[in-house]
Order: sequence, then structure tokens, then C-alpha cells
Amino acid sequence: MARIISVANQKGGVGKTTTTVNLGAALAHNDKKVLIIDIDAQGNATSGIGVKKSDVDEDVYDVLVNETPMSTVIQATSREGLDIVPATIQLAGAEIELTPMMARETRLKSAIDEIKDKYDFILIDCPPSLGHLTINAFTASDSILIPVQCEYYALEGLSQLLNTVRLVQKHFNANLKIEGVLLTMYDARTNLGAEVIEEVRKYFLERVYDTMIPRNVRLSEAPSHGLSIIDYDERSKGAEAYQSLAKEVLAHGEK
Ligand code: ADP
Ligand code: MG
Repeated sequence: MARIISVANQKGGVGKTTTTVNLGAALAHNDKKVLIIDIDAQGNATSGIGVKKSDVDEDVYDVLVNETPMSTVIQATSREGLDIVPATIQLAGAEIELTPMMARETRLKSAIDEIKDKYDFILIDCPPSLGHLTINAFTASDSILIPVQCEYYALEGLSQLLNTVRLVQKHFNANLKIEGVLLTMYDARTNLGAEVIEEVRKYFLERVYDTMIPRNVRLSEAPSHGLSIIDYDERSKGAEAYQSLAKEVLAHGEK
């Protein structure tokens, strides 16, 4: 049965999509069967793993709004063991269209229930907001992985995120947990990094991963080639970091 992890932070540009794609690829590299579900209308995970959005016929929007079975929208990627449910710009309408719908918070969960026994991990790439799509992701998930960018005000907004977690725990998913907090875009050359790390560790204690993702230009280049960092440049610092994160995530599951 799959472990279902939402990668979420309502701030944009903190490394959610980079983490979803590359953790997914690193887990697949460890012989796990992995599904990425893109629920951001930007579709960056979709294009970043090499799926052309113009070739997508039905996507996660159809699953959520039209109740298209998820199995019919799953696509294989060039990385063995890694599949994706794509998102395209039509998902932008979903926040509003879901509002009056029956069971609007549990639609993603119901769709995932039908396919989850085919995977070891399901990673959900959340949009930069705490709306219906993110609530659907949290309702469907076992846990949440929170990427936090190493910058001033890194913790800003996280109390809102944790409030949303509590609301979902109360109303839809009592078992929802924090999987871990991941420090991203770390730059050893600045003092800033060290201060932020201390602040985040003080706040989240042992839930912060030992692995930190360094700022690495190869990580930002890989999506334009439609490849994960493992397939783009396996020996880069970025690839090493996501491999190390995958080991921590795997070890956490065995505890
Ligand atoms: P989000 O999904 O949270 O909006 P992204 O993963 O798309 O964030 O990252 C935002 C931008 O920063 C992207 O252009 C991405 O390529 C780049 N980026 C993310 N992580 C790193 C990193 N560790 N080093 C360098 N660039 C990164
Ligand atoms: Mg993103």
C-alpha cells in the first residue's frame, strides 16, 4: 500500500516542484514504484518530468471535477518506475468549480483509493495556496513534506500552513502527520543559511531532515530537459542531496 505524501508550502518558489520530481525519481531509482500527482495549474512537475502539456488529453482536473478515473490519466515517464498524473492550465478553474460540489474535499482521496495499491509512494505537488486543491491533497495524504527555503522570513506563513493541517485533521483526516521539513536552496557561502537553519530546527525540532538541498544550478536546468536530476546529472550535488533525502524518507517508513 502506497505512502501518500503531499509536498506543500503556500509560498511559491520554495522548491516544492523540484522536491516532488527529484525525490520521486530518487525513490524510483531505489526500485520503488512512484506516482507523482501534479495539482498545480502551472503544471511544472508535468513538464519538468518530460510530459508535453499540449499532448495531454485528460488531466487531474478531469479526475477532480468530472470524476474521470485516475487510472485513465496516469502517464509513464522516461524514468523507470515513475508515473505522473499531469496538470494543465485548465486546473486553474478547479478552485472555483469545486466550491459548490458534493464531497469537494475528498475527491482526490476517492480517486487515489482506486490506484494506490499499485504504488509504493504517491507524491502530490501542491499549488502555492491553501485552497480546495491543497485541502484535497491533505485529506488524501498520510503526511506532509514541507520544503522551506533558506532565506529570511523562512518561517513566515508556516503557522497558517499548520492551521490548515489542524483543520484537515479535525474534519477530514485525523491521521495526517508532518512527514518532515526540508531546507532547500541552502548556500554555504552565506551566514544567512546557518541562522535560518537554527531558527527552523528550533521550531520543528527533530522533524527537520538532516539532508539539506544546496543551491545547485543543475537542479534548475534539469526541468528544461524534461529530466529529473538523477537522469540529467547523477553526479551533481543536487542529485546527491535528493538521493540522501530519499534514504531518509525510506528509513522513516521503516521506523
Ligand atoms: P515551487 O514549486 O515551490 O514554486 P520550484 O521547485 O518550482 O518551487 O523552485 C522555484 C525555482 O527555483 C525553479 O526555477 C527551480 O528550478 C529553482 N530551484 C529549486 N530548487 C533549487 C535548488 N536547490 N538550487 C537551484 N535552483 C533551485
Ligand atoms: Mg511548484
